[in-house]
Amino acid sequence: MREPHIFAGNPLDRGEQDRRDENWIIEKAKDLTSRFLPMAGPTVLVDSESGLDLGWIGRSVLMDSGCSDTGYYLGSMENVCYFAVDVNNEDNVKKELCERTGYTFEDARSTAESIDKPKSGILAQGRAQINWHNRHRFCSVCGGTNESRRGGQKLQCASCGSEHFPRTDPVIIMLVYDGERCLLGQSRGRLARMNRYSALAGFMDQGESIEEGVAREIREEAGIEVKNVRYHSSQPWPFPSSLMIGCLAEAATTDINMDPEEMTDVRWFRRDEVLLALDKKNDELQLPDPIAIAHHLIKSWANGDF
Ligand SMILES: [Zn+2]
Repeated sequence: MREPHIFAGNPLDRGEQDRRDENWIIEKAKDLTSRFLPMAGPTVLVDSESGLDLGWIGRSVLMDSGCSDTGYYLGSMENVCYFAVDVNNEDNVKKELCERTGYTFEDARSTAESIDKPKSGILAQGRAQINWHNRHRFCSVCGGTNESRRGGQKLQCASCGSEHFPRTDPVIIMLVYDGERCLLGQSRGRLARMNRYSALAGFMDQGESIEEGVAREIREEAGIEVKNVRYHSSQPWPFPSSLMIGCLAEAATTDINMDPEEMTDVRWFRRDEVLLALDKKNDELQLPDPIAIAHHLIKSWANGDF
């Protein structure tokens, strides 16, 4: 197995059995040894005084700051329970938290690039969980109000009783190669910057295998047929709730017929151009940073390590 990407490698025991006992969760949320991580929209509380770290706080600081959210249970480690807390709509609480701790709210994505990888996994879990709750306040079956269960790992409708489970959206991202060159593109949906290229990607469709999804996306975006689709690695991407499934595929055809609605450019790049770009020594080609799985797919191919 490959080394986990940023946002993977979460060391917490998610406590599948423990969290089924609602009273146990309530007790742990009151426990003075439990740790809480306040999150606000795209930001997270960060302790930047003694090296960058997640800004975990105890229950007393949380209560003294006026926070009303009881939090979502993330899991435990060495008998300490960890919760994520949403303070996005509570400006006073945010201000109090910063004043009482000396911590600051910082962008979650750039924080993830700077902290230990296992901690970025906890950050991904907390952020995806809070996103899911904020976007699923109401039952998709009857429109009733959803209530949090199992410390936030499940929602249940107060009207019809339907159960709703956390949503993860699979995205396939694939590097297509043809001998000494690989296929990279610029998509319209993202901030298309000059000379910035990445592996092609897209959401999985329903009733489709990963291999079929890879072949379809490449056909749609670049007009190219592929063979020998191989899994490389995956990465949770909590913006808001994707799972990136990284693959490599060999080109069966090589003439590009780009979809101009989705892409601004698709091109073949030579291995030597890609290797220079990975070292940030190629003015003609900018590649994604190591936070993104695309970087590692491209690097694996360029180094012949796949
Ligand atoms: Zn319902």
